[in-house]
Amino acid sequence: GGAAEPPPKLVLDLERLAHVPAEKAGPLQRYAATIQSQRGDYNGKVLSIRQDDLRTLAVIYDQSPSVLTEQLISWGVLGADARRAVQTDDN
Ligand code: C2E
Ligand code: C2E
Ligand code: C2E
Repeated sequence: GGAAEPPPKLVLDLERLAHVPAEKAGPLQRYAATIQSQRGDYNGKVLSIRQDDLRTLAVIYDQSPSVLTEQLISWGVLGADARRAVQTDDN
């Protein structure tokens, strides 16, 4: 896409996330639960997160944002369009 396109929304699939083994998904599960708690948003099947949160999660997972995004797509936690959130950045 062109540079003027807005980034895609990062929408976590919380049902998928709950089914990823905690040994892999634990940090993300805790991060998402914290955001839900801060917002008082407990009943959603999905959770929209900030672009900045993906960068923070990449630090937590000690991976580049693009590698982490591929991992989350492979788990079904993010949609494939989330790739565009990191493609335009220099990671
Ligand atoms: P905050 O960052 O000071 O945001 C205060 C309020 O501004 C939020 O209350 C929300 O009503 C609104 N707000 C801020 N940024 C956005 C945005 O990008 N989209 C929308 N729709 N509203 C926005 P809320 O939701 O009760 O959140 C309270 C606090 O919880 C936030 O204070 C922030 O510290 C934290 N928080 C909530 N959601 C997230 C998140 O997705 N990522 C991060 N890093 N922190 C979050
Ligand atoms: P959308 O962003 O495409 O979201 C579609 C539906 O996904 C939402 O329907 C809601 O059921 C779910 N959803 C998305 N993100 C979250 C989340 O972080 N938590 C929870 N619990 N559910 C989420 P809903 O609520 O009827 O909203 C319909 C549309 O209204 C949204 O479409 C969006 O275009 C707009 N909207 C709702 N809340 C906000 C907001 O905080 N900021 C902005 N900019 N638009 C919003
Ligand atoms: P959204 O509400 O449609 O917001 C889209 C973008 O507008 C945000 O992308 C952010 O760049 C900007 N924006 C919206 N409201 C605010 C605000 O109060 N303060 C600032 N500084 N910027 C704002 P971003 O950050 O990537 O967030 C993506 C989506 O994640 C938001 O879409 C919203 O659905 C959700 N979100 C992020 N932070 C919060 C929050 O604090 N509370 C809630 N309820 N939702 C949030």
